[in-house]
Amino acid sequence: MQGGFNRSTRTGELRLLGTKRSLALAVADPAKVTGRVPHTKGLGLDAAGVALGKDGAVVVDERYQTSVPSIFAVGDVTNREQLTPVALGEAMVVVDQLFGPAAGKAPRSMAYEFIPTAVFTHPNIGTVGLREGDARKKYGEVTIFRSEFKSLKHTLSGSTERTLMKLVVDTKSDRVVGLHMVGAEAGEIVQGFAVAMKAGATKAVFDGTIGIHPTAAEEFVTMREPARS
Ligand SMILES: Cc1cc2nc3c(=O)[nH]c(=O)nc-3n(C[C@H](O)[C@H](O)[C@H](O)COP(=O)(O)OP(=O)(O)OC[C@H]3O[C@@H](n4cnc5c(N)ncnc54)[C@H](O)[C@@H]3O)c2cc1C
Repeated sequence: MQGGFNRSTRTGELRLLGTKRSLALAVADPAKVTGRVPHTKGLGLDAAGVALGKDGAVVVDERYQTSVPSIFAVGDVTNREQLTPVALGEAMVVVDQLFGPAAGKAPRSMAYEFIPTAVFTHPNIGTVGLREGDARKKYGEVTIFRSEFKSLKHTLSGSTERTLMKLVVDTKSDRVVGLHMVGAEAGEIVQGFAVAMKAGATKAVFDGTIGIHPTAAEEFVTMREPARS
């Protein structure tokens, strides 16, 4: 998904960019797709001396400490990645800092690379890592693998639904740095691959992984020919 989404603020329609077939999603409530900003007005944070960013987000350092050392902030109010597991992960980092880690465990830390996300449309959109454009900016040379197909099960169902999968590979290191999918259960599938990506899996590791047949997910480990580089 090279160009991400284009959103109409009037209708809330999302259009998937970077593919010849744009995906138009009719959205009932545009407010739900236009993003959210921290609602910090009226909390008295200015009186407490807690610094806020331009967007009203509470400014924190890498330990989630605000400009007032005794006040910490995590989650949506800091406007980083607005996701439940991220808020939970950040909270665990603060807990370990304040009360110490569990016996025998290292203090937990948060990394913002390779956070998988999904949009629970029908079909799902699942993504982890960098989009093609961002990967090109970061790594310079990338190799793109792409596959679009009708899922085998739809041979029987008669559905015209198609699946799109894409891998973005840093050409120099061979590391898979982006994995994207539009298709049934994309959220479930991408969650599994996110572990491999976090562990630094290369395209060679993907190629050496045996697929489960017949699944859609096996396509991610059988993409042999680059679409472009
Ligand atoms: C429609 C929608 C769908 C979403 N779907 C997903 C999803 O599928 N997956 C996902 O990972 N994330 C999803 N999110 C995002 C997710 O809900 C948030 O990222 C997550 O809840 C952030 O947790 P938080 O603790 O930072 O904030 P919140 O969960 O918003 O918790 C903040 C709490 O503070 C309370 N509060 C606010 N002001 C005050 C006050 N003045 N005094 C006392 N209490 C106050 C609120 O009532 C609330 O309970 C979705 C969000 C929305 C809006």
